[in-house]
Amino acid sequence: MKLDVAGQSALLKLSQVDLEIEQVKNEISKAINSKELSEASAKLSETSGEVLTARTSFENLTMEARKADDNLHLVEERIARDSERLNNTSSPKDAQAMQSEIESLTRRKGELEEVELEVLDRLEKAEAELKQISTLREQLAAEVSVLQETIQAQVDELKTRGRKLTADRETLKSKVPAEILDKYTNLAAKQIAVGQVQNRACSACRMGLTASTIDTLSALAEDEIGSCPECLAMIVR
Ligand SMILES: [Zn+2]
Repeated sequence: MKLDVAGQSALLKLSQVDLEIEQVKNEISKAINSKELSEASAKLSETSGEVLTARTSFENLTMEARKADDNLHLVEERIARDSERLNNTSSPKDAQAMQSEIESLTRRKGELEEVELEVLDRLEKAEAELKQISTLREQLAAEVSVLQETIQAQVDELKTRGRKLTADRETLKSKVPAEILDKYTNLAAKQIAVGQVQNRACSACRMGLTASTIDTLSALAEDEIGSCPECLAMIVR
């Protein structure tokens, strides 16, 4: 296969550009499928669930505390009403009945106060927990956001590099005849398609070449493309 030295140089460069394009694609895929991001996102989603649970618990306890307070006020109002009636009654029998009711209500009031204190204690703990888990969630959300921005910046940069390489590729392709380009495309689908003899080895497959192979390749005309006996890559000057 014949190709002038400039064409051979373009062919070699095309092979290098294609390898770089492949590398850029891999890097983009690696950046998009970031393990760090997926782990941080999973943790964020788990923590969001915990925030929801903590908020529900806090809201339930808020209602419970309000109810306990209402119950306490009802008893306090009844005690006040009974006390007033006690002060105004002239019947000793009524007075005794009211006195006894007030005592019973006072006991009830004591119990309700204990209930309220216990609920308020739990409410305080639930509020602290909600605050703590919400703060953690905010931190995680910020971490995920920074990671996403970093990855986006990486991907943008890689895409810019990819576009430049693709443009280079078109320019290089235009310098290689169709027949050789076909052979290149077939080879490149499977392996590194173009190599040179470097340090007595094929630069495409890195295999050492025998002295007679090197002699044969050296003896080729300058515009003749050789072939590596190990990997079949096209060997250029
Ligand atoms: Zn080779």
